Amino acid sequence: MVGEYNNREQDLKTIYQEFINEFNHIFGVMGILKQFIYLWDENIWESLFNVYVKWKNPFNIPDPPSTIPVSLLLAQAIRNGIQPRELIDDYQDSNVYLVDYETFHNLHIFLEKLYSLHLGRELVEDDLWALHKSDLPERVLGGLEVFDIFKGNLFLGDDFFQQIKSVIWDEEALIFCKKLQNLLMTFLFENKNGNETIFSQELEKVVVLLAHCSAVSSDSQYIIIGNVVRAYNALFKIINTDITHLVNKKYYTGFLICKDCNEFYPLLENESPHDFSHCSCGGGLEYLSSENSNNSNNSNNSNNNQIFKGD
Ligand SMILES: [Zn+2]
Repeated sequence: MVGEYNNREQDLKTIYQEFINEFNHIFGVMGILKQFIYLWDENIWESLFNVYVKWKNPFNIPDPPSTIPVSLLLAQAIRNGIQPRELIDDYQDSNVYLVDYETFHNLHIFLEKLYSLHLGRELVEDDLWALHKSDLPERVLGGLEVFDIFKGNLFLGDDFFQQIKSVIWDEEALIFCKKLQNLLMTFLFENKNGNETIFSQELEKVVVLLAHCSAVSSDSQYIIIGNVVRAYNALFKIINTDITHLVNKKYYTGFLICKDCNEFYPLLENESPHDFSHCSCGGGLEYLSSENSNNSNNSNNSNNNQIFKGD
């Protein structure tokens, strides 16, 4: 199908050329494109998309009410009148460029997938607690591209949520946002089927939320192109950062087990499974949530092996 391939390449070139002609003069645009290509070269887009393809909603576990960790950020959003869809009468399917409860919820789902990417495995229940009881979403929304050094838990008060509800798009910025997203997704995907569409929409909703946050942080009621540039910079940095160090470790109350010698290692406070790379026998380690490890035979370090911290 060489002909089809050439057509696609031609389409991409056209979209790229039009985009550059229109927006090349804007500060930071080339930087975004470079970062995007960097993530492509490092195979990070491919790895992240694979997480989407294999994704199973981790909340589909038996007995959900007691097992779903409640997020502080979502609770705060609701308190400020940003309601889940099912609570709104006559809910119209939301415009992806507006911020509503689903936008905040979408950030959580996105962070779950990102966490799964950095852990290199599917999430278990303790991972969800560690993630959702961390200040990571707040860091992201309040700190944007400096989320890794920003501290949450104090910054996002009621004012933030009230302000974010009143922010509106500058028309040029909205066009810029749509065209940039179209360019990037055309580059990533030849065809857009179910998973590609979900991937594209979830990423776009994160950008929209971050662009709103950027406007709020500069005390503006309007989202301008600079806010969109900042949102993309923040998104790419989040994707490229190992977020495993930013979760709340105290929810890891289970055990590590060596896959080779079956040695059990209970985790101490402030230790998380990804702090350790391997057993002293050289075997790889697997994490068992505390409710799983209760059922297992606890050998309690009987053969004196040790586990070693990773880099
Ligand atoms: Zn071992």
